[in-house]
Amino acid sequence: LTILGIESSCDDTAAAVLRINGSDAEILSSVVAGQTELHADFGGVVPEIAARAHAERVDICVEDALQRSGLPLDQIDAIAVTAGPGLIGGVLAGVMCAKGLALATGKPLIGINHLAGHALTPRLTDGLDFPYLLLLVSGGHCQFLLVEGPDNFRRLGGTIDDAPGEAFDKTAKLLGLPQPGGPAVEREATKGDPRRFPLPRPLLDRPGCDMSFSGLKTALLRARDAVVEEKGGITVQDRADLCAAFQLAVVDILHEKSRRALIEYLALAPSAPAFAVAGGVAANGPIRTALTQLAAQMGANFVAPPLALCTDNAAMIAFAGYEALQNGQISGLDLSARPRWPLDTSAAPLLGAGK
Ligand code: ATP
Ligand code: FE
Repeated sequence: LTILGIESSCDDTAAAVLRINGSDAEILSSVVAGQTELHADFGGVVPEIAARAHAERVDICVEDALQRSGLPLDQIDAIAVTAGPGLIGGVLAGVMCAKGLALATGKPLIGINHLAGHALTPRLTDGLDFPYLLLLVSGGHCQFLLVEGPDNFRRLGGTIDDAPGEAFDKTAKLLGLPQPGGPAVEREATKGDPRRFPLPRPLLDRPGCDMSFSGLKTALLRARDAVVEEKGGITVQDRADLCAAFQLAVVDILHEKSRRALIEYLALAPSAPAFAVAGGVAANGPIRTALTQLAAQMGANFVAPPLALCTDNAAMIAFAGYEALQNGQISGLDLSARPRWPLDTSAAPLLGAGK
């Protein structure tokens, strides 16, 4: 089976061609057109600008992905597209493109939840069996999910306010570092002393897997302002120390809450225990290291997809499309774009027309 995937929910326009042969999945092409430079002056993604860029680029990305895959459109068996959650203008651009292709080729159209794309990535990269524990940690989300099937996700806990990616981005902005903030903060942190500024670890002493990151951001702002007040500005070293302190606090929170989520998961006695991470923040080196050690201590296999499959991409959407297709879940041409779409199956149906 050959699946074309299309992704346009945030600030990356992406298309990919995935070939699946039995248990072998091969990414024939994966094209990602980022928009960082378009939003650089605004300190965040501007929905209107993002929507226009997606509308301008999505067809070109698809053409490019097809060309790189070496396959003509008529050899594609199905078209999978992110139908939400995300910035609605961007999602619509992708959905309209996919509908046009489905209409022209007569091939099945599959609307995919962007978060399911992230959550199923460990099956694409490492062939994980259900159930596995997933920490989805990205620009807009942070949650522990028990992944029990391709459309069966149980939320064990998550952030009650900001997502860590958002916190990394705001930290970068506060310290005059470029966007996306995660990689910039990680780079600076390598030169810093994480102990110089003591930052809080909100909710760490509370039971359960819920997390909070907004207090951390406020504390960072205060620490920076205190330095500015004292010296009239911040030096490169101050900035590195602040980044290191921030990153260590995030590592500590994710580590402790992952430990608790693992206890809940392991109580189900899975035959091949596995703990996976997905989403852009899973690209972070120190976070990966801490979680690798934790999983090893607790007897679970740790899986972290390669960086290019952690951040937004269309290969994950194509793969989620494959899983949906195996499940007989196909969308109609009335597929709608959904700005909100919780992944927990008890909250909403995962796939389908979204009527
Ligand atoms: P969502 O998937 O929740 O809709 P999104 O698609 O914007 O949000 P992703 O593309 O999965 O999120 O991830 C982007 C986020 O990951 C950004 O906030 C970015 O700062 C963060 N990020 C990327 N690399 C790193 C890194 N090395 N360390 C920390 N954060 C990182
Ligand atoms: Fe994402």
